[in-house]
Amino acid sequence: MLGLGSLFSSDMAIDLGTANTLVYVKGRGIVLSEPSVVAYHVKDGVKKVLAVGEDAKLMLGRTPGSIEAIRPMREGVIADFDVAEEMIKYFIRKVHRRNTFSKPKIIVCVPHGATPVEKRAIRQSVLSAGARRAGLIAEPIAAAIGAGMPITDPTGNMVVDIGGGTTEVAVLSLGDIVYARSVRVGGDRMDEAIISYLRRQQNLLVGESTAERIKTTIGTARMPDDGRGQTMQIRGRDLLNGVPKETEITQAQVAEALAEPVQQICEAVMTALEATPPDLAADIVDRGVMLTGGGALLGELDLALREQTGLAISVADESLNCVALGTGKALEYEKQLRHVIDYDS
Ligand code: ADP
Ligand code: MG
Repeated sequence: MLGLGSLFSSDMAIDLGTANTLVYVKGRGIVLSEPSVVAYHVKDGVKKVLAVGEDAKLMLGRTPGSIEAIRPMREGVIADFDVAEEMIKYFIRKVHRRNTFSKPKIIVCVPHGATPVEKRAIRQSVLSAGARRAGLIAEPIAAAIGAGMPITDPTGNMVVDIGGGTTEVAVLSLGDIVYARSVRVGGDRMDEAIISYLRRQQNLLVGESTAERIKTTIGTARMPDDGRGQTMQIRGRDLLNGVPKETEITQAQVAEALAEPVQQICEAVMTALEATPPDLAADIVDRGVMLTGGGALLGELDLALREQTGLAISVADESLNCVALGTGKALEYEKQLRHVIDYDS
């Protein structure tokens, strides 16, 4: 049975990620999770939305000249404001129940480094999509809440959110951010590393979706013990004669391709630890580091990070959902977590 509250309200929490957008509805949980992609038809300079989300992602890298598929959040920030606004509106309308009487309150998470202009743009998009009130929450705080970390305790907690465009490393204590830094290394950079490895080593050209599939199927952050690991059949274009070619890629090759982005993530963690006040740093050495985001699912990334930093590393349950779950929790427990939500600025 639905309570009266859930019938009258569809307050929402939105994780607007560079790769995926998730919507959490109060009292219902995560109701939408789709790629942050918009496909447009362009005719005589006029743009018309063709598809958003899952359908649009299928078009990435496969569009004819008249159609453009865009990832509006590509670099960890809003790369295209208008397209981002269209996308936010589309997803809100998709989950908003028509039979509700009041306009929803909506909380959106924003990267720690978002500029005031970006924050205002996100707030405006949400308001023009029909929200009554728009609140913002810092992404690292949302990720940590979603991962179940005790963020309001007077101890240092480190959360590393590895998304599509960026990795955000943050140290939290007493419900606030003590240190946060974002590096432009994430899942996209890993895909690019696989593409350039195959081009260099095998004269094979593959697209972004093939590279992502290789990463999520056999991707690993560590050299396999037997020096080879699993293999996968892949298809691409032979750059020597221009024709399609099918070949095999080993886990060892993927590990080699991913060595640089993995190294950069390790360095970001070490830099954060060095910049953290000593007592909080000691807490992190005791309690370890929590990984969230889709990139945390890369095979053996936790092990590689542990080997390189000496810290205990855990991967959050439901790492792809942490930010949305944490933002949702802030919405559900607003009385207790009011200080982490920013309603005006
Ligand atoms: P964002 O918050 O930027 O939208 P997400 O946290 O949703 O990003 O993570 C998306 C990224 O995670 C993509 O680059 C995707 O390829 C990557 N990813 C998803 N599953 C895996 C996996 N099993 N192994 C490695 N990377 C993964
Ligand atoms: Mg994210």
